[in-house]
Amino acid sequence: MKDIENNLTKDTQQYRLQETRLQEKLDDGTTRCHLCSWRCRLRHGQRGFCQAHVNRDGTLYNLSYGIISAIDISPIEEKPVKHFQPGTQVMSIGSYGCSFRCGGCHNLDISWGVSALDGLARGESTEAYVSPEQMVEAALKHKVQGIAFTYSEPAVWLEYVIDVSKLARQAGLYTVYVSNSFITDEALEEMAPYVDVLCSDIKSLDQDFYTDICRMAKVDDILNAIKKAQALGMHVETRTNIIPTKNDDMSMLREIARWIRDNLGEDSPWHITKFFPAYQLSHLPPTESKLLKQVYDMAIEQGLTHAYMYDDKGCDCADENLTVSHYLDGDAQSIHQVKKCAASCCGDEGVLLKKYEQKKYEQQK
Ligand code: SF4
Ligand code: SF4
Repeated sequence: MKDIENNLTKDTQQYRLQETRLQEKLDDGTTRCHLCSWRCRLRHGQRGFCQAHVNRDGTLYNLSYGIISAIDISPIEEKPVKHFQPGTQVMSIGSYGCSFRCGGCHNLDISWGVSALDGLARGESTEAYVSPEQMVEAALKHKVQGIAFTYSEPAVWLEYVIDVSKLARQAGLYTVYVSNSFITDEALEEMAPYVDVLCSDIKSLDQDFYTDICRMAKVDDILNAIKKAQALGMHVETRTNIIPTKNDDMSMLREIARWIRDNLGEDSPWHITKFFPAYQLSHLPPTESKLLKQVYDMAIEQGLTHAYMYDDKGCDCADENLTVSHYLDGDAQSIHQVKKCAASCCGDEGVLLKKYEQKKYEQQK
């Protein structure tokens, strides 16, 4: 196994809150997060929409740094990514917190994870912590060729994504970012130099569809982010999960195919996947095979040379995965010990927010 040289500038050996990468202190005493297009403006004690970033005394911190909600190994084609190092294996990882609330999300427990993030905020969580070095070592140990950030939107733990990606590249591994592309230009620019592949959803071109799952999401912003990722040198592939009655209008789907052709190139891969009922969309039927084939034929007609249809597989979900400790060297007990932040600012007890909540309470008295 190669030695992973830790060239990160911060201490990542133990769980600790890590400063949010893109933050701006505003004149009104709030601090704004610029990782995703929510651009949350937070006061002391508040957490962002994703729940994964918290304001403590004016500084934003990422709660979920190194906290792994799911892990799995599969061919890169399952992400789905077909034109970047085909035939290789990738270790997929995800954490808690997401910028969207999709009605058909298959990953609720491992993506939104609000109660898991609450536990971290209280210093009571036993969720697995894996340092960037341990993660890359685990990937090498299992002889995969890449690491994929997936299961929820990776922008909400970009601090970890970038740190792992830097070490992964040093160790000869590639990285894949599976995304909803609700990410700011600044965050993309921070990430693109270190991450090899963007596999992004284009969920619809209908603004109402996006507003329904995230009131701040604009179709144009999503498309511009995908285009920008390609301009920044990332290998880009896109995916549309066809949901009956929600985004199955053929003229809209034709517009997606044309947009890909005209903006990413006619050889840009488009993955057309089957919807399976879940959560608030449990009442809808799975996508009919006939429709998937029609969308595929339409894509070819529009000039896309790498359209793919998946009649057997829905989302990139992780229901049946083995535990995190299965993939790591440490024993389950140490991986799952209670997460009290090791940073000195958290106080002698290492409790995450209690000290701050107490201070706030005292100020209010
Ligand atoms: S990552 Fe997005 S949702 Fe989370 S705090 Fe930052 S701007 Fe808000
Ligand atoms: S489907 Fe993806 S983007 Fe939507 S809520 Fe679930 S994890 Fe987030």
